[in-house]
Amino acid sequence: MRYISTRGEAPILEFDEVLLAGLATDGGLYIPEIWPRFSADDIRAMRGLSYADLATRIMLPFLGGRIAEADFASLVHDAYAGFDHAATVPLKQLDDNLWLMELFHGPTLAFKDVALQLLGRLFDHVLTRRGERITIVGATSGDTGSAAIEACRDREAIDIFILHPHGRVSDVQRRQMTTVPSANVHNIAIEGSFDDCQDMVKAMFGDAGFRQEMRLGAVNSINWARIMAQIVYYFRAALALGAPDRPVAFAVPTGNFGNVYAGYAAHKMGLPVAQFAIGSNRNDILTRFMETGVMETRGVEPSLSPSMDIQVSSNFERLLFDACDREGAAVMQTMIEFRKTGRLTIPQGGMKVIEALFDGHRLDDAGTLAAIKGEYEANGELLDPHSVIGVASGRAKARYPATPMVAMATAHPAKFPDAVERATGIRPQLPDRLADLFNREERYDVLPNDLNGAMTHIRDRVAA
Ligand SMILES: *Cc1c(COP(=O)(O)O)cnc(C)c1O
Repeated sequence: MRYISTRGEAPILEFDEVLLAGLATDGGLYIPEIWPRFSADDIRAMRGLSYADLATRIMLPFLGGRIAEADFASLVHDAYAGFDHAATVPLKQLDDNLWLMELFHGPTLAFKDVALQLLGRLFDHVLTRRGERITIVGATSGDTGSAAIEACRDREAIDIFILHPHGRVSDVQRRQMTTVPSANVHNIAIEGSFDDCQDMVKAMFGDAGFRQEMRLGAVNSINWARIMAQIVYYFRAALALGAPDRPVAFAVPTGNFGNVYAGYAAHKMGLPVAQFAIGSNRNDILTRFMETGVMETRGVEPSLSPSMDIQVSSNFERLLFDACDREGAAVMQTMIEFRKTGRLTIPQGGMKVIEALFDGHRLDDAGTLAAIKGEYEANGELLDPHSVIGVASGRAKARYPATPMVAMATAHPAKFPDAVERATGIRPQLPDRLADLFNREERYDVLPNDLNGAMTHIRDRVAA
């Protein structure tokens, strides 16, 4: 198994190299050169496997022999042992043909744990074998920082530094990061805004000397291994509902297009998928694209579903590659144009590839609150403001009434208690594993909004 860049000009890499590389050198994203395919019989033979065994079987072809099967199986089992539901990603029935797949039973209560819990272990395994170390640096406005910290804590080959804006993330979000007692976890509160934090991280990566000296790395959402890990739960849901003998549809609340692209990958691997309904909030670039065929950037406005507040969906480029007939040069051209003008159209014929499977739907904040209330009244389910956008999109856009629709629930309602309480009058409780969050000791350093100071701080900690 080899990996090529969507823009066609970067070196072709093996799995472990792609894992550590992240973005390709030509600005593109890595994808498998050839999709591994499972036949209907292969898929039938997956029925009844545990989540970890299913995950091992589905991901193994992507490794191309670069990690031994037994080692990989043990990393996978370890990654999902920390989920606090026996089914790892349980599937619930909401009504006759609508299902909810709960992806939020990991340590930080959001679906990003499904991929990041494995990613941290893969990094550690590959780096240790190479005798290398890495320093992960990232900025967070609250949500992704804790998932990255939980993924990297106690990993011997990794130091992780997460910058957050001092006093500007919620108490729950801050405590999920700062109460992790591991020696390799370093929280930095910057006296500035989220944009200041992000600019600082960008400047660190832009400083070639610092980047090499610290061996900076990222665990961002374009990393191929994150997509790979997310493919598994599409198989899991479809198997439970009759695959491969019956097609299934999916509804996915979408930001960077990583989650739903993983579903598309499952489809390319042989899973019969009838449709993807993608949901957005008021930052609806994808929905407008599905409606008009034109992708056009606008400013980002804050919403009740902050993890979907995006200006562009970085992983969309992977789908664009197929819409461009897998021509890297056409993707390069299209993306250069998009960067220049903020406007993207699909080269001739390519829109058909997308329209065949995808529909877009949007919910503004008022619609989100109404949907949370409606679902609670209809079936007693408390949904967070991201998950409910998936459910509502599945209801609104289902093309085939007899086909089961699985909506992906991406966060636990207690992660966004204010919105849930506003909509239903009920304040969702944190699950047991986090019940004592407010009694745990916090550990973080407050630093001024100064790049050199922050770089010195990181250098000193890594040396120690
Ligand atoms: C990241 C995130 C999303 C968006 O997922 P993408 O893969 O970026 O499309 C949706 N909901 C929650 C809760 C998230 O954390």
